[in-house]
Amino acid sequence: MTLAADSEVDVLIVGAGPAGLMLATWLSQLQIKTRIIDKRSTKIMAGQADGFQCRTLEILDSFGIDRVWKESNHMLEVSFWNPDENGVIRRSARAPDTPKGLSRFTESVLHQGRMERFFLDHLKETGDRVRVERPIVPSLLQVDEPEINNPSAHPVTLKIQHLTDEQATPSQGNNIPNGLFRSNLTADDTDDLIRKSSGKEGTEETIKAKYVVGCDGAHSWTRKQLGFKMEGEHTEIIWGVLDVVPITDFPDIRVRCLIHSASSGSLMVIPREKRVVRLYIQLKEVGAGGGAVDRSKVTPEQILKAAQKIIAPYKLDYEQCDWFTAYQIAQRVSDGFEKFNRIFLAGDAVHTHSPKAGQGQNVSLQDSYNLGWKIGMVARGQASSEILKTYATERQQIARDLIAFDQKFSKLFSGRPAKDVSDETGISLEEFRNVFHQGAVFAAGLSVDYGPNILVVKEDEGKEGTVRCRPDLANKLKIGMRLPSHKIVNQSDALAIELQKLLPSDGRFRLIVFSGDISKPEIYSRYEKLGEYLSSKDSVVSLYTPQNSPRDSVLEVLTIHSAKRTDIELQSLPEAFHPLDKSKGWDYWKVYADDESYHEGHGQVYENFGIDRDEGCIVVVRPDGYVAATVAVADTKSLEAYFERFMIKL
Ligand code: FAD
Repeated sequence: MTLAADSEVDVLIVGAGPAGLMLATWLSQLQIKTRIIDKRSTKIMAGQADGFQCRTLEILDSFGIDRVWKESNHMLEVSFWNPDENGVIRRSARAPDTPKGLSRFTESVLHQGRMERFFLDHLKETGDRVRVERPIVPSLLQVDEPEINNPSAHPVTLKIQHLTDEQATPSQGNNIPNGLFRSNLTADDTDDLIRKSSGKEGTEETIKAKYVVGCDGAHSWTRKQLGFKMEGEHTEIIWGVLDVVPITDFPDIRVRCLIHSASSGSLMVIPREKRVVRLYIQLKEVGAGGGAVDRSKVTPEQILKAAQKIIAPYKLDYEQCDWFTAYQIAQRVSDGFEKFNRIFLAGDAVHTHSPKAGQGQNVSLQDSYNLGWKIGMVARGQASSEILKTYATERQQIARDLIAFDQKFSKLFSGRPAKDVSDETGISLEEFRNVFHQGAVFAAGLSVDYGPNILVVKEDEGKEGTVRCRPDLANKLKIGMRLPSHKIVNQSDALAIELQKLLPSDGRFRLIVFSGDISKPEIYSRYEKLGEYLSSKDSVVSLYTPQNSPRDSVLEVLTIHSAKRTDIELQSLPEAFHPLDKSKGWDYWKVYADDESYHEGHGQVYENFGIDRDEGCIVVVRPDGYVAATVAVADTKSLEAYFERFMIKL
């Protein structure tokens, strides 16, 4: 029996942690009718995740959210401490925390509650279309299976319960008295502590949705309704976490440190914002005894004592503790990420692992970053629901890679340091540093490489009417990976700008035309022909752009030429490359030069992407900034073949 609905919505998100808020941000940006519910009466205020990878910072920047970068502590250095021949810890090496040249950003640290604050503020400032509704839990999930292939149907029904204050008991700091955990609260967070009544407490509601997304954390209710299981290991290793303002004579307390003591275990130091330092400590005294740890038995004093032993002969103490916890590592991936192409799971709901490599929040945010634009395009009627299938295939692989990385990293970190070269069961410093460095690109979120699917074409498909993909035309650019950033120079005003700044998360595909040196007549003529095509009524731009919408609202065409900037006049280029909007004038922000800038050097984007300065190419970029295909400049047929795979003609 199908329940009668009180209301309908395009997307209903369960859970307003990092994964849920990222999804809400995408859907609000794309103006999709969305609701997001959470069982907590407030967002979190302290603790939990704190590391922001380069890729996450790039993604946040693409939404115009720069407050993490501004407010966080930028971790620039990592140092390794190991026992010397007398068993006393010594600094054995130093290295940059983020390898040079990976990204515009470096790894940064700020507590998860601030991230949630920034998402909530951003949602409010950009239209106030989506608000988190609290405290609410879902109690029933039903799917009208005959309707799942009907694009206009709302086949998922969810019954929700509005909780009373007594029912909603958010845990903020694991027994840290309120005054203490709130002592480091930021002024703009305090308002959230005042509970505002929704007037609906104790009532039930039935909602019909086109899509439901479970972003409801490790104990996901949504996952359980779908019958999916978490597969993997529950290890015996127990770790304590302390967020404290340390009082210590340890010299490296303000850089990231990996400390292996001779016989007291390991400690990781994460220098944080507002004088706080997070300490991850291996707890030798608290045995799991084969089952789950009773975390309520672990006290901050106990964790501190373990840390003091590892860091000796240096002294360590604190007066202020913001948060603490103890955890046992479970490395697990769900055996399903979606059902019926209508219900999806993201974040901790589908993968859990140790937090030390700072991956949890990042991978969770990136799951729903992958999903948001796809649901948006399908809900708007722009793309076929086939693209939704790529969510599970793309992200399930990432989750598996994450667990493999975490298993390697955790084992090394929890292992006993080798006494000397003949000690085969111990972990040598060399081994540890190698894994750390090899893992740095992965840990930065920059090794994500989506395999071939309806959205990603990696090779020439070989026949007429298919995508004649030409990876050789940009042989240092990896199709399936995020487009790296280099400085380019605006043709019209000489401003040097990062390429990624031209790719805001606004739901558009981009055709980046690396036109070559258009000061040469034969190259210009090829470019001119492309312009004629793009302006024609049968071009990919015309076919997929609604009639009364701006020309660049679905597919945006950007040019990066390799001529000397001063040899080119914007006004002499075909209009398709700098369209005129009668109310706004000519578009001066679509044509760029790969040239020397006045103040910021030469970005050498052609060289960095392996593009010949005469031959050029067109790079198709997905709305999430990942490279979808590379084709020849004159090959408009391949552009048509690419978009025909999933776009809906309007
Ligand atoms: P969550 O952040 O867990 O968010 C899930 C949201 O769903 C919550 O707001 C919750 O209230 C809500 N919810 C849950 N069930 C329901 C329901 N039935 N109905 C409605 N709402 C529901 N990561 C690190 O990188 N470093 C760390 O040090 C670290 N420490 C952690 C300590 C703890 C105690 C926990 C729980 C996690 C920690 N993590 C850490 C992991 C990190 O916080 C997560 O990986 C990240 O928050 C995942 O984001 P998410 O949005 O998927 O899930």
